[in-house]
Amino acid sequence: MRPFSFSKTENTAKAVASKNDQARFIAGGTNLVDLMKKHIAQPEAVIDITSSLSAKIENTTKGLRIGAMVRNSALTTDSKILSQHPLIAKAVLAGASPQIRNMASTGGNLLQRTRCPYFYDTTSPCNKRKPGSGCSALKGENRMSAVVGYSDQCVAVHPSDLCVALAALDASVNIINKQQQKTTIAFKDFHRLPGDQPQTDNQLPANALITSIDIASHPFHKNSAYVKLRDRDSYAFALVSVAAALHLLGNKIKDARLASGGVAHKPWRWYAAEAYLKGKEANVENFKKAADIAISGLKPLSGNAFKIPMLRGAIETALQNCLAG
Ligand SMILES: Cc1cc2nc3c(=O)[nH]c(=O)nc-3n(C[C@H](O)[C@H](O)[C@H](O)COP(=O)(O)OP(=O)(O)OC[C@H]3O[C@@H](n4cnc5c(N)ncnc54)[C@H](O)[C@@H]3O)c2cc1C
Ligand code: SF4
Repeated sequence: MRPFSFSKTENTAKAVASKNDQARFIAGGTNLVDLMKKHIAQPEAVIDITSSLSAKIENTTKGLRIGAMVRNSALTTDSKILSQHPLIAKAVLAGASPQIRNMASTGGNLLQRTRCPYFYDTTSPCNKRKPGSGCSALKGENRMSAVVGYSDQCVAVHPSDLCVALAALDASVNIINKQQQKTTIAFKDFHRLPGDQPQTDNQLPANALITSIDIASHPFHKNSAYVKLRDRDSYAFALVSVAAALHLLGNKIKDARLASGGVAHKPWRWYAAEAYLKGKEANVENFKKAADIAISGLKPLSGNAFKIPMLRGAIETALQNCLAG
């Protein structure tokens, strides 16, 4: 690692005031430190924000607010999460390991970088790591890569499980920028597709800080499920994952939410499949049809066509699992 200075700030105002392009915030450090060890991130200064940010989960007029410093493990045990948004706990429990979840923060989870192997291998071309150098995965090892929304500049997927649940629940991200202004970004707009700027993962303004996540109240808490398919039963990133939530009136679907991880550069919503499900009976036939709608038009790469039937099955299973609560 290169030498760097280290400081700790006590509030968000001081944190953003001390941040510049050569500095990095550190929360749990479970991604940033790896990136520094591999010389992918080479900050001159590291600013510890663990005392600057809320670690509380609280009810507000906007619904449930999750402070950016809430650890991932707290999201799996908090009574408000479990009663109001259990999908979040289910998704987080499918990710990482207990040790990592104990360190990882909510804000850091949103900003973790892709796990594309070429991104971490500094001997390989990678447009996301070094813009203009080329994409090694496009015609190389792309088994884990995207099947939708990619460009010829980058085919990487966003690795988070939590973010798939937050996408399904239409969360919003509260931030404070360098000018000390507080704003909110809808979750659907927070992460971005690669286009011709794959080096930029999200719409967070330069040097801004995520302060919290809001999730409005909704009726999805009774019927939600998270299905994650991966190479090992635990401690592995998703090949494909599905967050599903149904609002049922009897056996009729009043509203549906479907999102996936492992398929795109950002957590991906299956809007057409959701629209199909609305007003239909909650049964296997309609779940199969919704899965078929979701996978129609997907374009696999040379090494990941297997993800398409896998995804169809995961969507069907997740919808079916919603019926169990
Ligand atoms: C072996 C391993 C397996 C994993 N498996 C999974 C998995 O299966 N599923 C999954 O979802 N995740 C997985 N993860 C990723 C893990 O969840 C993330 O590393 C973690 O959530 C990042 O949080 P952190 O607080 O440690 O972030 P840090 O490493 O501290 O920071 C990450 C980035 O976010 C920035 N940052 C942090 N907080 C803020 C903030 N509030 N505002 C602005 N910038 C901020 C930092 O500057 C840095 O750029 C795994 C990680 C490892 C190491
Ligand atoms: S897919 Fe993206 S992260 Fe992976 S090598 Fe290509 S440019 Fe880099």
